Order: sequence, then structure tokens, then C-alpha cells
Amino acid sequence: MPGFELFSDKERQEVNEVLDSGVLMRYGFDGIRNGHWKALALEKTLAERMEVRYAQVVSSGTAALTIALASAGIGAGDEVIMPNFTFVASFESILALGAVPILVDIDDTLTLDPQAVQKAITKRTKAIMPVHMCGSMADLKALKSICQNHGLLLLEDACQAIGGTFEGKPLGSYGDMGCFSFDYVKTVTCGEGGAIITNNEEYYTNADHYSDHGHDHVGKDRGAEGHPFLGYNFRISELHAAVGLAQIRRLDDFLAIQKKNYLILRETLENIPEITFRRVPQGGEESYAFLSFFLPSAKITKEVHAVLGENGIDGCFYWFDNNWHYYRKWEHFLHKTSLGKLPKEVFEQLPNYSKSDFSQSDGWISRNISCLIKLGWSESEVRHRALKMAEIIGDLLKRNQ
Ligand SMILES: *Cc1c(COP(=O)(O)O)cnc(C)c1O
Repeated sequence: MPGFELFSDKERQEVNEVLDSGVLMRYGFDGIRNGHWKALALEKTLAERMEVRYAQVVSSGTAALTIALASAGIGAGDEVIMPNFTFVASFESILALGAVPILVDIDDTLTLDPQAVQKAITKRTKAIMPVHMCGSMADLKALKSICQNHGLLLLEDACQAIGGTFEGKPLGSYGDMGCFSFDYVKTVTCGEGGAIITNNEEYYTNADHYSDHGHDHVGKDRGAEGHPFLGYNFRISELHAAVGLAQIRRLDDFLAIQKKNYLILRETLENIPEITFRRVPQGGEESYAFLSFFLPSAKITKEVHAVLGENGIDGCFYWFDNNWHYYRKWEHFLHKTSLGKLPKEVFEQLPNYSKSDFSQSDGWISRNISCLIKLGWSESEVRHRALKMAEIIGDLLKRNQ
């Protein structure tokens, strides 16, 4: 997955153009920037690649999620449905607005279970935020129909699945808005960065203003611009955008490498009958950023994960025990541990998650291992890794019979 593995002269060239002009800011300074508008160019290239009308590039994926929600008018006390298997950024972006994260179960897609979503809808629900974890997507067709029936916003977190598709559409473009992260470990990286994509002009305009202190970006004098509503500073710098511009142009090359490496691992592990693979919803094609599979029991999965690590097979994750990606270890969130007082709405409306029954998700996540697919592997490295993994898993299965 990490695009940084293949940094090249292309990234260097883009960054050097910014340094040579000396203009590190994305807005203004028209006269001295020698025609270099890296953030704008990244937005244009991203919108074209994702087949949408608008893209707004910002300082992080977490910022992108926050801005997307704000742009759709979500605020204090509004409920946003999200999966209990994701990255902490999901609830951070919701809490940042005084809105309330409503956690629900995942299924064998490792993403939102549409039936669990349906059950969680209340009068206060405003949005559903599926997270396309580990390179593959939620059942967007089912979720869109729920959103249409209840008048809810569908916001796709495609931070880990850039380049995947659903019903032929790029992930992120199927819902009302989609978000990407360009942080250091994502498929496309800026160092730090993120983006919102949409076909909705109003959401886009709101995102453009909100991410820059509310600036309406009318005219040529920043100091004289209007501020139609409150905003914040979530701008990206030209240096970061320059790296991302070179990287987004290489996305399809990165995806081809990911797919090739993924298939070598998958074809080898498919020979083990006890292994099943995460379900990709009908109509979807993953980005191949991870290979995720299930073993017969939690006990053996934990053991396999440990032995893979001991044998130098890096980049395989056992999310069940992970501090950042699964609700079980989000103690700070579960116990509402914040530096200052939380907004009243959040404090009063947040469900008591330590009493929630997430046994359905536990059943899947406790038997899952997800292996990061690297871009820098040589073919012989991947083949060696595949055989080693199959050998370790086969051995442990035999011993546990
Ligand atoms: C990386 C990531 C984010 C947040 O992105 P940052 O750019 O690191 O803020 C959000 N959601 C998911 C699923 C991610 O993997």
C-alpha cells in the first residue's frame, strides 16, 4: 500500500518547482508563483481520475471527514452511524463537530452490516459513514437505498481503498461525498494530506470555504474576501500537494503492482481449505491494498499471527487486539476521556458502549488476519512470502486438529 515505497524523480521534480518559486501556500501570490498551483492541479487530476465534478484537497484524511460532515450541515447532537472496526479518525471527525458517533456491527465484508445500520437509525440520525477498510468496500448499494429511504447523507471513507470500484464507479464517488487520506502510509501519499470528492456543488463550495477559515475565495485580495460562515484552517501546503500530484498520476501503476502481489499470496493461501477470505460485495472490485482472511477459531488465528511475526512475515495485522482500529481497545472513547469538557450533546447522547453487544463483529474480527500488500516487493520475495505463510498456517492447523 504505501506509495512512499516507490518515491522517484517525479515527486522530486514537483517539489522542486514549488521550492524554486518560493510560494508554499496554495492561495494567492499569483504574480510570483511562476504558474505553479500544485493543490489546484492535484484537485483537477483527482476529480478526473475519480470521475466526479469536484475535489477539495486538505491537510489530512481526518480533516477531510470533518469538513465533509460540516459541509453537509452536520452539527451538535446529530447522529452519524459508523462501523466499530475502522480507524479512530471516524469518531474523531464526528466528535469534532459536537455530533454523536453511533457504532454498529460489521459483517464478513469487514465493513458496515446494512441490517445493523437499519436497526440503529433514530430521529436524530443524519448520516451513514461506511469505511472501506483494508482495500475493500461496504455494500454501498444496500446503504444507498437505506439513505434514500430515510433522507440521510452517505459519506464514504475510502482512505484505505483508493482505486477500488463499486458498480464500475471509483470508491468515494458512489455516495454523496467520499474522503481520501494521503498520509504517509497510504497508497497515494503527500506526507500528510487528504481530500473530499463530490458531485454536489453546494457541499463542494462549503468544503472550499470551511477548510480555509470561511474565505469565500471571491476576487484577488485575500484580505478583502468575505466570510459567509464560520470555518477553520485545514489547508494543505503546496509542498505536500506537489508530492501528491506526482503520486496520483502513478495511482494506476501502483494498483497494478498491488493486484499482482495480492494474487500471488491469495492463490497460494487458497490451497488451504480451512482459510476463507473476506467477502467483497457483489459489484465491487477491491484496491488490493490488503489480503484479509479468516481462520477457523480465534485461538488459532492469534497463534498464526504470532508465529508469522516471529518468522519475519511483517505487515500482518490481528485487529482484534489492536489499539487503534477496533472498538475493544478504544478506552479513551469508551470512557469519554477528554482534556476539557465534551459538548453537552455528546456527553448526554453517547451510548454506553461498554455495555453494547458487538458479538457479531467479535466473531469476524477475532478470526481475521489482514496482510498489507507492499509495492516494493520483488516477485520472488512475494512468492517466498506466500510459501512461508502457507507452511506456517498449514503446520499450526495440523497441530491444532
Ligand atoms: C488513514 C485513515 C484516516 C485518516 O487519515 P489521516 O490522513 O491520517 O488523518 C481515516 N480513515 C481511515 C480508514 C484511515 O485509514
